[in-house]
Amino acid sequence: LLPLPILARLSSTGASLQKEDKTADLKNDEGFKGHEMLAPFTAGWQSSDLNPLVIEKSEGCYVYDINGKKYLDSLAGLWCTALGGSEPRLVAAATEQLNKLPFYHSFWNRTTKPSLDLARELLETFTATKMAKAFFVNSGSEANDTQVKLVWYYNNALGRPNKKKFIAREKSYHGSTLISASLSGLPALHQKFDLPAPFVLHTDCPHYWRFHLPGETEEDFSTRLANNLENLILKEGPETIAAFIAEPVMGAGGVIPPPATYFDKIQAVVKKYDILFIADEVICAFGRLGTMFGCDKYNIKPDLVSLAKALSSAYMPIGAVLVSPKVSEVIHSQSNKLGTFSHGFTYSGHPVSCVVAIEALKIYKERKIADQVKSISPMFQDGVKAFSDSPIIGEIRGTGLILGTEFVDNKSPSDPFPPEWGIGSYFGAQCEKHGMLVRVSGDNIMMSPPFIISPKEIDELISIYGKALRATEERVK
Ligand code: PLP
Repeated sequence: LLPLPILARLSSTGASLQKEDKTADLKNDEGFKGHEMLAPFTAGWQSSDLNPLVIEKSEGCYVYDINGKKYLDSLAGLWCTALGGSEPRLVAAATEQLNKLPFYHSFWNRTTKPSLDLARELLETFTATKMAKAFFVNSGSEANDTQVKLVWYYNNALGRPNKKKFIAREKSYHGSTLISASLSGLPALHQKFDLPAPFVLHTDCPHYWRFHLPGETEEDFSTRLANNLENLILKEGPETIAAFIAEPVMGAGGVIPPPATYFDKIQAVVKKYDILFIADEVICAFGRLGTMFGCDKYNIKPDLVSLAKALSSAYMPIGAVLVSPKVSEVIHSQSNKLGTFSHGFTYSGHPVSCVVAIEALKIYKERKIADQVKSISPMFQDGVKAFSDSPIIGEIRGTGLILGTEFVDNKSPSDPFPPEWGIGSYFGAQCEKHGMLVRVSGDNIMMSPPFIISPKEIDELISIYGKALRATEERVK
């Protein structure tokens, strides 16, 4: 058992042990305490009792805190700095655009060349199925909110006012605005926010290790989940279900790749009832899984796609929704009838974000980034999975450059450690102590390093992971 005073200092989101040592020389009057900020995904006590970890500088796969301590950033910021933290071409693209045209909007048939160019570039890059239009937003959450509005608009245009419900999956993460948090299947995003919105239904999380029945193969598990989805659709009435949304690999829910045949079977059900398929590619796109998109890896043929994060390697906020010809044609004819398509944001297609995204896409293509990820990922996957025998690890899972570790007792999904032991947080704090940042969510650890990570840096990642694991095992003894 961890002594309570230590626990009280552990962050539930994977921040560190109290950092008096690191922050002793920081002056509170310089505002480093963080008391003034309502911090996202941070408990109140953390921002009042703990000094935040203040990151000041980045260089490749590393970030540095305000005291100069260096960390291997194994989560690439928030699964997003795909090209690392110091790609000069992205900085140059932004600077040039800032000097030329720092802003113009895309409303009322006015726009900028960077947004037109990026739209064309994205439609050419996404080849899993033909897409007709790109709509620009500023984040993954806005992309998924936009998806709901597009789908409703589409069904209203088709004279199907009752076809409005969305099916998402338990443990999914689709963002934290009202609608995207509703789509998400994580209870913490709903509790005390009066969510989810009533039009959202949640179906099974496709986590084979945790949820399969005794003797059930992965294929049988996928069949059962597809049957459950079909039963849910029939119970609600297919005429009420508008769309199904899924991440190709679930990210924030604990890194959960789909079991064998899952997407084939789910897509067949969705198609049967004329339900649109939305691929939330916010984490998976642009090479993370060793393919340009998650849809390529799992043979997903979506009607709509959400993009963000690696689209600009996170150097500027930007997201996009890709719309299939089937949906966009209906939206166009409806907007012609109404006189306008009344949806958009001041910063939709922001020219600085667009030029950075165009440059990032250019780099991904020139450097064959998806192939690069594919060739380096076995070293990452096998290296970390070599720790699977640890008595405190239930499962290490992942593909490409995304990996999750789940701590449990007795190697059993039904034997979690008591939450007050703070096993995940302790592991995260140990990684931080040894110079690496990971994501902690309860007893789940997540990593998704930049696509540019080198073999030497993967060695370092594995070595720090091993040290943190040994320390955590000692703690549990
Ligand atoms: N969708 C997925 C799959 C995500 O992982 C995230 C963020 O982690 C989002 C949507 C929300 O993106 P944002 O934080 O940019 O709103």
